[in-house]
Amino acid sequence: MHFRDKNLIPIWDKIQDGKRLSEADGLRLFQTQDIISLGKMAHFVQKQKSGDGIYFVLNQKIEPTNICVLACKFCDFATKAGKLDAYEMTIQEILRKLTPEIHEVHITGGLHPDWKWEYYLEMLRQIKANFPNLDIKAFTAVEIDFFSKKFKLPLDEVLRQLKDAGLRTMPGGGAEVFSERVRKRLYSSKIGAKTWFEVHKLAHRMGIPTNSTILYGHIETIEERITHMIKLREAQDQTGGFLTFIPLAFQPGDTGIKPSNQFTSAIDDLKMIAVSRLMLDNFPHIKAYWVMLTEEVASIALNFGADDMDGTVGGERIAHDAGAISPSKLAKDQIVKIIKDAGKIPVERDVYYDPLNLHCQSVIGKIPYLNSVSFYQYFEKRQYKILPVSPRRMGILAEAQQIDAGLFSLVDYMRLKRDLEMLPFCIATRDQVKSVMLFSNHGWRDLDGRTIGITDDTATSVKLLKILLESKYGVKASFRRMHSGVNDYSDYDAVLLIGDEALKSNKFGLGGFELVFDLAREWYEWKKLPFVFAVWAVKKSLPAQQKKEIAALIHDSLETAEQRFDDLGKLHAQCLGLVPSETLEYLEGFNYRIGERERAAMEEFQLLLTKVKTESV
Ligand code: SF4
Repeated sequence: MHFRDKNLIPIWDKIQDGKRLSEADGLRLFQTQDIISLGKMAHFVQKQKSGDGIYFVLNQKIEPTNICVLACKFCDFATKAGKLDAYEMTIQEILRKLTPEIHEVHITGGLHPDWKWEYYLEMLRQIKANFPNLDIKAFTAVEIDFFSKKFKLPLDEVLRQLKDAGLRTMPGGGAEVFSERVRKRLYSSKIGAKTWFEVHKLAHRMGIPTNSTILYGHIETIEERITHMIKLREAQDQTGGFLTFIPLAFQPGDTGIKPSNQFTSAIDDLKMIAVSRLMLDNFPHIKAYWVMLTEEVASIALNFGADDMDGTVGGERIAHDAGAISPSKLAKDQIVKIIKDAGKIPVERDVYYDPLNLHCQSVIGKIPYLNSVSFYQYFEKRQYKILPVSPRRMGILAEAQQIDAGLFSLVDYMRLKRDLEMLPFCIATRDQVKSVMLFSNHGWRDLDGRTIGITDDTATSVKLLKILLESKYGVKASFRRMHSGVNDYSDYDAVLLIGDEALKSNKFGLGGFELVFDLAREWYEWKKLPFVFAVWAVKKSLPAQQKKEIAALIHDSLETAEQRFDDLGKLHAQCLGLVPSETLEYLEGFNYRIGERERAAMEEFQLLLTKVKTESV
């Protein structure tokens, strides 16, 4: 990096060391004129988090009404009942706007003075009944708080009933800027930061991931933007339930706050994206919301820290009523083209950011956990495109022929052997693993007949768990898939977590569970063998030269990594709360090459697999 602004050098040092940026660092980033260096630093962090992937979703925005009991000064969308522009949608009208091919419906709107609670619940139920594959992201914290007060229900009861009716995630709107000064001037009747965080943290505890926003470019100061981000970062440290952060550029419209043609500048928009990527080190995603940024700025933002383009967003009115100049719907092909033109992988996702389709060839899959950091650094030098993806998803994408090579979960490799060729590299434990853990309130033999929650990410670990339960301990439990990330574990007698989630919970504990079992240790004490969780494989159909090149890149990456485990994955480990000695001990605890003992372990596992029925998991 060659910095024009030398003030950025200490910040870059911190970023490379995985250290958290301070408020003063944030201010310096906003003040810099060295936009290119700012973008490059943000892009570095973006690549660590999302590789070359840029996410988008086929979605539809539904704003059921613009009638609102409030009148926030910056809002050009809301109106009062009886006005000419007022509208109210029936559930049938909402259903008519949806189609089976979309994956997400995003519902927010005015705070209607007369609608009944049952209307909102029925809206979600009917959407799920008519479109079972569609996920519902609905209702901002402002709406949740409104429902609670209007219908005299505690906040957790509002969320519980909405979740039962089909709510999966919540949008991040209503945050505006966490500043009392701004709130008093622009939206004094609306909830402030305290209630916004109360609702979101409660949702996280109840297993509802949420999103977060900032509305910038009106009367807020740069200091207030930074404070806003730091508050979000602290909340994320506590719950881990935020999926993405979405900077929303203010659309002046007829609000009178700014002249109607005074939009935020492209430079300010790009700075906002880049600074958020750098400050919000514990957020998985940063969104370039093209509806407000415009298509052109959003496409540059994909190399300035943003890894999410939202989606097709049919039916959006709030920003357009305020004068947003973007088209009201962006076709899927156009989104794919924008992402490809930015040199990235267009990843069609679901509401939880799980990849559904990759619109790109030659993708190398990367297990997004700390234990796989050793394998990838040389790929970038050869212009391969890398996508972090959970083990189970990687198997699904490989089956659909969308991944050329990757570190596959062992059972997926076994299942797809016909199409995949194994390379001599793996993730195998020596004795314990620390990142495939069963958190339980019962000893192994007491798990008979009980319910175990299993993370949606696992492919091999869940089968290992079943083998241990049935063949080692002679008990049978039932399994239920949970989505990875925040969950309400109160329904389970035990839960199986893997990867970073398990590593973190192993260190800091998982509320509600007293016992912790390491599956690799259980296996080792039983079989006196390592356990192979994942193996490298390439598509058989790839040209021989390419297979050779991929194997050489893994080999070279590994050779280098083994010399500097203490330096590897600093940013990654810091987000997990690990100190360098813990990271070193963890990374040194694996075998990364397939030898005789690893082969014997795989054969033993395969044999045991045939003896227990694992189809149901
Ligand atoms: S911003 Fe939301 S709460 Fe405020 S007036 Fe507009 S619709 Fe109503």
